[in-house]
Amino acid sequence: MQNTRIAIVGAGLAGLYAAYSLEKRGIKDYVILEAREILGGRIASTIHSDGSPDVSGDGGFDLGPAWFWPAFQTDMARLVDELELGTFQQFETGDMLLERSSNQPPERTRGYVNSPPSMRIAGGMYSLIDALYRRIDSARVVRGQAVRHLHMSEPHVELVSENANGETFSHFAERVLLAMPPRLVEAQLTFSPALPNELAIQWRETDTWMASHAKYIAVFDRPFWRDQGLSGEARSAVGPMVEIHDASAPEGKAALFGFLGVPADIRSRVSERELMTACREQFVRLFGSQAATPEAVFIKDWAQEVHTATVADQRATGDHPVPALSPSSGVWAQRLTGVGSEWSQEFTGYLAGAIDATNRGLASLKINQLKPSG
Ligand SMILES: Cc1cc2nc3c(=O)[nH]c(=O)nc-3n(C[C@H](O)[C@H](O)[C@H](O)COP(=O)(O)OP(=O)(O)OC[C@H]3O[C@@H](n4cnc5c(N)ncnc54)[C@H](O)[C@@H]3O)c2cc1C
Repeated sequence: MQNTRIAIVGAGLAGLYAAYSLEKRGIKDYVILEAREILGGRIASTIHSDGSPDVSGDGGFDLGPAWFWPAFQTDMARLVDELELGTFQQFETGDMLLERSSNQPPERTRGYVNSPPSMRIAGGMYSLIDALYRRIDSARVVRGQAVRHLHMSEPHVELVSENANGETFSHFAERVLLAMPPRLVEAQLTFSPALPNELAIQWRETDTWMASHAKYIAVFDRPFWRDQGLSGEARSAVGPMVEIHDASAPEGKAALFGFLGVPADIRSRVSERELMTACREQFVRLFGSQAATPEAVFIKDWAQEVHTATVADQRATGDHPVPALSPSSGVWAQRLTGVGSEWSQEFTGYLAGAIDATNRGLASLKINQLKPSG
């Protein structure tokens, strides 16, 4: 049993940024309960996927998010600066390829450069997680604890979590920050007393951004496509990948990645090996025979991740209003707030949304009025 002022549920970007923000305000009596053994949530790197070695030579490749847009995501840009992380522009120089149908060869067309540019973080997006984790008290982060139940037991909220062996633990806190997707909260956590019905429906109907997606990465010793004046970017109506980009580390290994267009429910019936073979064949069709012999390949299907996606996310559209952060009245008001990215008004679903929602959530629970820990 543990007693703290604040409990944070989830150690993705929102949860770790919440802890970092609390510590900056001198508030040190918090706990983060994380269901997985690996921190970062949807921010994931090839170095952590299956214990594989770091083939990038530069920190790993992104299995989840790769880009942010500092030109308009200013709070996120400030955080990246504050954490002293290097950034670089997504490689987009050269022509792109279009695969319109299976009976036509890929077409070459002039590529376009995003403006403002999509930026990447040196060492991969996981550097952001590492940097936040290094700046907080690691003893406050408890891994392998899936929160299952929240019980209002005045003057505290009791959080009941479960480890992989099914053993349960109780933690008590004055306030709770839900740093996970709203749909997962509604699907995985029970509340006593129950949340207001309207709020529960809103949370349930909020798609978890990118939870239905899968990403394939192939690593090469050099970016050979650039020799032919290609940017590494492609769009395909043939598949299995529909959108392909250069994922090379600036001074490390070269790589290409693609988002699969095969729907999640169909992917679940195909073996990973078959999907990987089809992706490799597509890279050869697009970029030539040098693509046939990658040094390493990775696939990450987010729809299969129980701590990210539910069945409802398999056919997600992302077309819904941003849900309320917390109950406006009743016992849970001022006790509970959502801080995961989907609660962001400005950048819902994005990395910058996790920062925005956390800032709003901390303000809504009046965290800045709490006295620093003694
Ligand atoms: C393939 C992909 C590509 C993306 N590309 C981009 C991009 O380029 N740019 C961009 O801005 N965004 C992108 N995103 C979105 C971005 O990843 C998310 O916005 C961001 O990571 C959300 O962070 P979060 O902390 O709110 O949620 P999450 O990262 O989902 O973190 C939630 C945490 O809660 C934990 N958890 C879940 N259930 C429980 C429980 N019961 N008890 C305890 N812990 C629990 C999870 O394990 C997880 O660690 C992408 C996402 C994916 C999947």
